Amino acid sequence: AAMDLGGKKFTIATDTTFAPFEFRKDGKLVGIDMDLLNRIAKEENFQVDVQSLGFQAAVSAVTSGQADGVIAGMSITDERKQTFDFSDPYFDSGVQMAVAKNSDVKGYEDLKGKTVVAKGGSEGESEAKKLSEKYGFTVKALDQSTSLIESVKNGSAAAVFDDYPVLKYGIEQGNGLKVVTAKIPGGQYGFAVAKGKNADLLEAFNNGLARMKADGSYAKTLETYLGKDT
Ligand code: GLN
Repeated sequence: AAMDLGGKKFTIATDTTFAPFEFRKDGKLVGIDMDLLNRIAKEENFQVDVQSLGFQAAVSAVTSGQADGVIAGMSITDERKQTFDFSDPYFDSGVQMAVAKNSDVKGYEDLKGKTVVAKGGSEGESEAKKLSEKYGFTVKALDQSTSLIESVKNGSAAAVFDDYPVLKYGIEQGNGLKVVTAKIPGGQYGFAVAKGKNADLLEAFNNGLARMKADGSYAKTLETYLGKDT
């Protein structure tokens, strides 16, 4: 499926910190999303101007036409398909809850009357909202992954709802949190463009992703950030 973008430059929006998918290391944006995007761009002969805006801002940048595409650990959902065209899925994810290591919260039923945090506009936020009425807790939306973790650590929130690979990575890095509930099933990540726009970019992404899956570089990228057991 040859298609030459002739070195065309695209503006791609992403989250600020969503490790291991995007985060800064020695000032440089790295992570699974960044490695996939950069390699695909190189192989498919296009250039990227990556803008690290935050999740909700990255999503809005694409709908408003300020960016051509978004890669931000963004879950493919039916609702989003109304406004975005998604690539083939590149990662199986899903939402989970985490609490402070020393917390005695053992399940959703311990959240009664408490406040939990989630990223604004994220699947974590919508899953938390779905549970909030039944279990009687309040959901507060924040913009940044770092503030989510901070709120739980300093006790201003009883729990955080976020994607489990992100929680797992943070916990392994010693962020002081733990998980006590099961994953909520569902949620695959895709690269997205505005519905009906940038079809060439989307096709090139899919071609590049298929090639990375076939030649082993996709598996290698995941292994770099997640270790061998994935
Ligand atoms: N996967 C989640 C979503 O799409 C969160 C993405 C993120 O925080 N970068 O809503």
